[in-house]
Amino acid sequence: MMIVMKETATEEEVAAVVAKIERAGARAHRSSGARVTVIGAIGDVEQDANIESLGLEGQPGVDRVVPILKPYKLASAQITHGERTVLDIDGRKVGGDNFALIAGPCTVESRDQMLTTARVVRDAGATLLRGGAYKPRTSPYAFQGLGQEGLRLLAEAKAETGLPIVTELMDISDLDAVLEVADVIQIGARNMQNYPLLAEIGRSGRPALLKRGLSATLDELLMAAEYILKEGNPNVMLCERGIRTFETAYRFTLDLMAIPVLKQMSHLPVIVDPSHAAGRRDLVLPLSLAAAAAGADGIIVEVHPRPDEAICDAAQQLPADDFGDYLERVLAAAAVAGKSLSGEPLTTGATS
Ligand code: PEP
Ligand code: MN
Repeated sequence: MMIVMKETATEEEVAAVVAKIERAGARAHRSSGARVTVIGAIGDVEQDANIESLGLEGQPGVDRVVPILKPYKLASAQITHGERTVLDIDGRKVGGDNFALIAGPCTVESRDQMLTTARVVRDAGATLLRGGAYKPRTSPYAFQGLGQEGLRLLAEAKAETGLPIVTELMDISDLDAVLEVADVIQIGARNMQNYPLLAEIGRSGRPALLKRGLSATLDELLMAAEYILKEGNPNVMLCERGIRTFETAYRFTLDLMAIPVLKQMSHLPVIVDPSHAAGRRDLVLPLSLAAAAAGADGIIVEVHPRPDEAICDAAQQLPADDFGDYLERVLAAAAVAGKSLSGEPLTTGATS
C-alpha cells in the first residue's frame, strides 16, 4: 500500500502514519518529493490486509491510499512518485543527470596491471574503478581470480588514485573481506538470483551493482533488486549486460530496450555493460554510444594495458591507450541524452 500525504501534511501527521504502519507489523518506507511525501507500507500479504483495515484514508494529512501494483514494491517507479534515485558513491553521483564511467580490467592480475589501468582511467576522468578479485568462470579449470591478494591490490589502486572500487562478491563467506575494499559490490549475472547473497548485501548497506541474469526478464531483475532494498539498503544500480537469444554471431544480445523500459518500471539507475554483452572489443564503442544516447546512467567497461595478454576476457577489453578517446566519444553521446560525466567531488579548497 502507498499512502500519499497532502501537500499541507505536517511532520507530526507523517510520523503518525508511519507509527500506525509499523504497529501493523509492516515496514514504512518514506519518500519525500519536492511537493508531497509518499509512505510505502511494505509487508507480506497478511500485513497488507492489516494496513487496509487501518482506515488510513481518514487520518489527518492523508490524501489517498493506493495499492502498489507491482510485486517489486520498493524498486517500482510508483514508490518514488516519478523521482529518480541518485546514489552517492564517495561523492560521485550515479543517476539523475549524471553519467558514470566505471572502468578497469576484467580481473586483477598483478600490481603493475592494476595500478597502470587505474592511473590511465583516473587521468581520463573515470568515475569508478572496476576489477574482479573473485571471478565467476564458466570452467572450473580457468583462473578463478587472485582473491584476497586481488582485494589488496584494489585497495592500493584506490589509495593511489582516489577512485572508488567496484568489485564482485560471489560467496557470502567473502563478504567481510570485500566490504573492506568495495565501495560498490557487484553481483554478477550468474548470481542475480542468489537470494541469500542479495539479502546479505542488503543488510550490509553497501551500494550494489546488480547485473541482469543471462536469461532473466526485467521483472526478475527488479524482484532480485527488491531482495536488497527490502533489507533497508536503498543503494542499488541495475546493470544490463546482454542476454541469451537465438543469435550466435556475437556472445550475448545487448538489450538496449531495457534502458528506457527499466526506467519506466523503476526509479533505480541503469548501467550498461557493453564488454560482456559483446565479447569483442570492436563492438564495445558502438554499443556504448547507443546505450549512452538511449539514456543509460553509466557504462561499466573493461580496460587493460595489454589486452592480448589478459588472463580473462582478452578479446573484449579496450586497450588502456584508447580509453581517453573512447570516453570522450561516449560522453558526447551521453550529452545527447542530457547527461554529463560524474567525477570527483568538487573540493572547496578551504582548509584551516
Ligand atoms: C564481470 O563484470 O566481471 C562479469 C563476470 O560480468 P557478468 O557477471 O555480467 O558476466
Ligand atoms: Mn570480464
